[in-house]
Amino acid sequence: MINSNTNDFLSNNARALKSRVSKTAYQGITIAVSAIIIATLLACYYHFGVISIDGIIKVQSTNYALWILDTIPFVFGIWGQYSSTIIAYEASALVFDQTQELRERADDFEKKAHHTATHDLVTDLPNKALFYDRVEQAALAANVINGSLSILLIEVGNYKEVNDTLGRNSSDSLLKQIAARLKGAFPAPASIAKIDSNVFSLLLSEAHSYHEVLAIAKNIHSALEPVFFVDKVKLSAHVNIGVVNFPDHGEDVDTLVQRAGVALYMAQESSNGLAIYDSSFDAHSPRQLTLMSELGQAIDRNELELYYQPKVSIDNGKIYGVEALVRWNHPTHGLIPPDDFIPLVERTRTIQTLSSWVLKRSFEQCAIWHQQGLDLKVSVNLSVKDLHNPELPDLIAGIRSSTEVEPAWIILEITESSIMTDPEMALDIVHRIHQMGFQFSIDDYGTGYSSLSYLKKLPLIELKIDRSFVSDILTSDNDAVIVNATINLAHNLGFQVTAEGVESLEILNALHDIGCDIAQGFYIAKPLPVSEFNAWIAASEWTTIPLLESNSSSAL
Ligand code: C2E
Ligand code: MG
Ligand code: MG
Repeated sequence: MINSNTNDFLSNNARALKSRVSKTAYQGITIAVSAIIIATLLACYYHFGVISIDGIIKVQSTNYALWILDTIPFVFGIWGQYSSTIIAYEASALVFDQTQELRERADDFEKKAHHTATHDLVTDLPNKALFYDRVEQAALAANVINGSLSILLIEVGNYKEVNDTLGRNSSDSLLKQIAARLKGAFPAPASIAKIDSNVFSLLLSEAHSYHEVLAIAKNIHSALEPVFFVDKVKLSAHVNIGVVNFPDHGEDVDTLVQRAGVALYMAQESSNGLAIYDSSFDAHSPRQLTLMSELGQAIDRNELELYYQPKVSIDNGKIYGVEALVRWNHPTHGLIPPDDFIPLVERTRTIQTLSSWVLKRSFEQCAIWHQQGLDLKVSVNLSVKDLHNPELPDLIAGIRSSTEVEPAWIILEITESSIMTDPEMALDIVHRIHQMGFQFSIDDYGTGYSSLSYLKKLPLIELKIDRSFVSDILTSDNDAVIVNATINLAHNLGFQVTAEGVESLEILNALHDIGCDIAQGFYIAKPLPVSEFNAWIAASEWTTIPLLESNSSSAL
């Protein structure tokens, strides 16, 4: 097919070029014939004094110079045909070569783009998306032949420590070296991927018993045992390994990864850092781990609910806005707080479903309040993983247009760690959302990397100081200094500051004295379900009376 197209392409081009060269050859023939006629007439006139048919025949049959001239049109004809064919083929071959080169470059570009979307930037191993895909394919294939699979999650337990003490370059270098050693220890068909900042996965093409897994774990441990050199510093990697088998421990990739997470949790608790999932773990592992698999259905069953906690402007006591905080009303376990399920759900794709539910519900509620004339800014928490999801800007655009919310009514809360994991991608996503008019806030400020260079690059409206600093502001001089410095820094960068965890009037007064803009905390109100929040706001003193009492050192 390709060959016949190529031939057609070549011969069409050759034909076009050939006809142009032939045209030039015909012009040459015409000139040569004209030269023969003129030369013959001149020769006839020169010999006989007149131009006559007899004279022309005579000079043509006797004059050798005219004979030579007579051959020239034939020479032109043959030479023209020959060179036109050669030139035409050479030219079209050149065009073809260049087209081919352009096509190859386009193919290369496409391959590179696909590679980036499916591979981890640091280690170049397959990423979570590709890993899920491979597990799905492998499970389908295994189903056909009644086969089985094993998935190992390998967590680098001391990654955070390395990252916090030596910085990102060093932790990246450690991960690269670990990836190289794992690849060496488990050549294909074993498939290694990196599915989280500090978690590798290994897919094995059949299920393994505890003893077999023990041997594999030994291999992993011995591959990773020799120390790593990172910037001349000797480091060792402490790994835990959680294992699940398909189909015994789950039939779909989400369940399998969730249960491998449960096994990983048990591995952290075990003496040898290894555990194969067992349903009995569910009784021992924390409740949130066993609940993970139920979360996907919880959304369909309407078990999630958003609570709203008010944010109050410190200088005038007016309600500035609310933060939407998700809760899970579990039919048997009661109300489950987000810290118990979000970090674990973030390991799986369910986080996308959860985030999109939270965004949709909070935008809808925001629209309702604005229709009622309540000018509230609604803060919505984005997960670390959301800033790795290239579809997030489109998702937000869709929800925005269906709810008719103005972007200026929304503040999206992100954390520093969500930027630091893959800064290029995260910044791109943040900027795309900001272009629609949405504003961003850095949540839990002070607990993460606090990199000033990213603060500058982000389109921020707000810094939220973590409650761990705020709640101790009265008793710890260090915390008071940190809060004070953060407020100055934020103001200099043009951001407003919200203090989280304001639990008392004394803290509120202290925050007022050091120039904090907004307060959020139990002293004002706890997060409330929407009906209670509406009742609270209707009766609230915070909307009408001055916030601070006269015992403040600088009361309003
Ligand atoms: P966050 O975004 O920093 O939310 C503030 C947390 O501090 C909330 O906990 C809130 O109830 C709590 N808090 C507020 N004032 C006080 C106070 O005065 N004292 C004390 N002790 N606590 C206070 P919550 O609702 O349990 O949420 C915990 C975290 O879960 C949130 O921290 C946020 O990171 C995450 N989260 C909550 N909802 C969502 C969500 O819809 N999506 C995502 N991705 N994460 C969420
Ligand atoms: Mg928050
Ligand atoms: Mg916070």
